[in-house]
This record gives sequence, structure tokens and C-alpha cells, in this order.
Amino acid sequence: MTRHAELLRTERLVKRFGGLVATDHASLSVATGEIHALIGPNGAGKSTLVHQLSGALRPSSGQIHFDGREVTALPMHERVRLGLARSYQITSVFKRLTVLDNLALAVQAHDGSSMRFWRPARAERARYEAAAQVAERVGLGPQAQRIAGALSHGQQRQLEVGLALALRPKLLLLDEPMAGMGPDESERMVTLLQGLRGETTMLLVEHDMDAVFRLADRISALVFGKVIASGTPDEIRKSPEVRQAYLGDELEEVGA
Ligand code: ADP
Ligand code: MG
Repeated sequence: MTRHAELLRTERLVKRFGGLVATDHASLSVATGEIHALIGPNGAGKSTLVHQLSGALRPSSGQIHFDGREVTALPMHERVRLGLARSYQITSVFKRLTVLDNLALAVQAHDGSSMRFWRPARAERARYEAAAQVAERVGLGPQAQRIAGALSHGQQRQLEVGLALALRPKLLLLDEPMAGMGPDESERMVTLLQGLRGETTMLLVEHDMDAVFRLADRISALVFGKVIASGTPDEIRKSPEVRQAYLGDELEEVGA
């Protein structure tokens, strides 16, 4: 996968909720192959930005370009078809089905048309092979035959990432994948995401600064809906604007 080619770009994106400007002329660029982290204090507008990228929210003004196309007004399912997927977006976990059945359904949602010329039994086998591969990718190989509802919280989040991966996205949007996890579960998720590096481009919103600084190739910082800085982890650590926004505390913890 070639780095540096631009995969996603927002241009002066604005989202207003009544009088509140949740996204304030945000211009963001994500390169093919990178893990791009989006950080910012609570209420900075991170989720609102992700929702506009996925198509869940329509921007008030500005543009979104993805993979050489303008997608600002495209509905969510068409963005997914182009390869822009958010964990949780199309398929959510069916708690009474096995891990493998969940993943096979997500594979089917993606390949629905491409396998239409295959015999049903062969298409089914191919789907389950693809599902088993995704289970391995997200560290759920040993849990493949377990009922999804019986998995731990952390494993269910791993499965959610798997469901998104089954859609074979060019860009995976992850909004706080480690929320509610203990240290061991967080560590497993970091390892999982590390393993996808170079294979899937990611825009990662995450609170855990330790995880962000370990994973990200580049980081953009959002404050009051504005992108105040974009750069390498080192540049972001040293940015006076970012330090000001965090009042030092969270960045201290990562040895900045
Ligand atoms: P973050 O994810 O960075 O914590 P959000 O994007 O959730 O921030 O929220 C940004 C701001 O927009 C907050 O002030 C929040 O209260 C507001 N907001 C988010 N969604 C809505 C909505 N649907 N209606 C009104 N205000 C909203
Ligand atoms: Mg949020």
C-alpha cells in the first residue's frame, strides 16, 4: 500500500446544531495507509466529525472528498460501498449467533453481488472462509464458535471491528474503540489495530493518550470544532496550542 496518497479530505467542514458550531471549518487530510488519530477534549466535536464522514450527519457547509470523489451528500450505504466504513455502522453484533456466523453475515453484506454467479454452497463456504480469516485478524480465532453474547466486553468490541473489516473498507472509522475497557482489553485492542497497520487506513478517535501515541502515524487535534494542529506524534506533543488545550495533564502521561 503506498503511503502519502490522500484518501480522505475535508474542506472547511461546518456543522451547526442551532447556535452551536460543533464543526468549525475543519480541514483534515488522511493519507492512504496511515493510522490517523483524532484527539481533543470532551465535546470538541470528534464524534460529530466522524458522523459526517460516515454519512450519519449532513454537514451544514463544506466538502468531504474520499478516494478521488466528492461524497459530501452521498448516503451512508453508498459510502460503505466506496470503502468508507465505520465500526458499528451497517452490522451490529447479533448476540445469539456465533462469532463466525456474525462475521459471515457481514461478509455477505459486502459480497452480496460479487458472488451471485457462484453456486450457493460454494458461495457459503467462501463466506465462512473469509469470516474465519477476519476472526483471526481480530484475535477471535479461538472464540469463533462461541455465541457472541457470551463474549467479554472487550471481545465484543473486537468483534465489532471484525464486522467492519468484513466490509473490506479502504478507510475504517473508529470512535473510541477502547471505551469501557480494562487495561488488558485495551492492550489487546492496541495489538489488534497494530496488526492492521498498512492493510487498512484508519481514522481513530481515542481518549487513551498512551494508545494514541503508540498507534498513530499522524494526529490531528480538534478543539471547539476547529482543527488546531495536525502532525506527527512528536509535533503534536510539542505543539503549544495542543498543550494549551489539554492544560498539560494528559500529555504529561505519555512522557511529552
Ligand atoms: P466529542 O465526540 O469530541 O466529545 P461531540 O461531537 O459529541 O464531541 O459533540 C460536540 C458538541 O456538539 C458538543 O457540545 C455536543 O453537546 C454537541 N452535539 C453533539 N451532537 C449533537 C446533537 N445531535 N444536537 C445538538 N448538539 C449536539
Ligand atoms: Mg465522542
